[in-house]
Amino acid sequence: MKVNDIMTQLEAKHPGESEYLQAVREVLTSIEEVYNQHPEFEKAGIVERMVEPDRIFTFRVPWVDDNGKVHVNIGYRVQFNGAIGPYKGGIRFHPSVTLSTLKFLGFEQTFKNALTTLPMGGGKGGSDFSPKGRSDAEIMRFCQAFVTELWRDLGPDTDVPAGDIGVGGREVGYMFGMYKKLAREHTGTFTGKGRSFGGSRLRPEATGFGALYFVNRMCETHNIDLKGKTVAVSGFGNVAWGATMKATELGAKVVTISGPDGYIYDEEGINTPEKFNYMLELRNSGNDVVAPYADEFPNAEFFPGKKPWERKVDIALPCAIQNELNLEDARKLKENGVMLVAEVSNMGCTAEAVDFFIENKILFGPGKAVNAGGVACSGLEMTQNAMHISWSNEEVDRWLHQIMNDIHEQCVAHGREGDYINYVKGANIAGFMKVADAMMAQGVL
Ligand code: GLU
Repeated sequence: MKVNDIMTQLEAKHPGESEYLQAVREVLTSIEEVYNQHPEFEKAGIVERMVEPDRIFTFRVPWVDDNGKVHVNIGYRVQFNGAIGPYKGGIRFHPSVTLSTLKFLGFEQTFKNALTTLPMGGGKGGSDFSPKGRSDAEIMRFCQAFVTELWRDLGPDTDVPAGDIGVGGREVGYMFGMYKKLAREHTGTFTGKGRSFGGSRLRPEATGFGALYFVNRMCETHNIDLKGKTVAVSGFGNVAWGATMKATELGAKVVTISGPDGYIYDEEGINTPEKFNYMLELRNSGNDVVAPYADEFPNAEFFPGKKPWERKVDIALPCAIQNELNLEDARKLKENGVMLVAEVSNMGCTAEAVDFFIENKILFGPGKAVNAGGVACSGLEMTQNAMHISWSNEEVDRWLHQIMNDIHEQCVAHGREGDYINYVKGANIAGFMKVADAMMAQGVL
């Protein structure tokens, strides 16, 4: 396999799908050497099959706003790879969503899910619908319209969606409700459900908590004490919220959060229950702005139109959207002495930024390893639903901890380069080998 040849073919086949091509190039570059030691993979066309989704659904989502006006959005579900289990992955509602976005996310999800050690294939879905400023009734109608088209292709052993950007407990509730009505079955077909109808404890916190368990392992492995470290977080949604709470609990100080409008710098730390709850309030307001934080907590400062990566911090945690941290940001973080960067969002850093961190031996955790705690907890929700039981906080947290430590071990095992651990390479090789093995065993499909 020659990465450049495959990429040239893919670019010709899927022109303009830049995020998807970015994600594929990263994985293929990491695995090239290992792949070429396995002529049986080449013969079986593993890479050629792995980079194309099993199937894609694209559909019209018509819905009526509160004034009676009809709107039309595009809905998608990408069932990327089902080699190791039912398709599993979130639904994203955001105006930036394109097929390229969901193909990159579905591709990443395939390896991420393999890393969790749970039997889940990779999938992703969503729409270019913008929830910003929409009423509860509008959100409900949109969710119902989305699922009306998709429900036949979902199921607890077929395809299990969950949340992502723009989709939280409320949206999952509306989608699950419609699914249940149409399918006439109450199964674990969605995860991230409300606790009263099958949702797992800790699912809302799991992505952020899991990420900090992973970061903590990175620190321990390199004799770094997380206690007392300053942390820049971007975003202010569910993932940023969980990461901020767990970082605080582990003794670090989170000094920033951000939104599309700019970032907040809170020198005292975003570290009290009031501040955590206020993050939730901001998110639930549906306005997608972070500026009001500085009115609520006047010691904090708001920097309009800026990104938190200009601050001097020890640790940077992108928790918002893809490619939110570029080469220029990476350079600035290094100048300011950053020691660890971990993507809690999916592909939070551009390819150039990732290469820069690795070349400069700055510890770097890629999203598919760092943020796998979210989907891992979804896997635990599927297990609880299938068993018709509900586990305690302690039980779920114990699993989450164990899974994140296990992912860290896999990264170390495959990513050691002298005294540096290349977590990108480690995660990609470990995830790839598991999926490739399953594909080899199941024949040409
Ligand atoms: N959207 C999350 C992710 O990127 C969670 C997916 C899930 O729970 O299925 O991994």
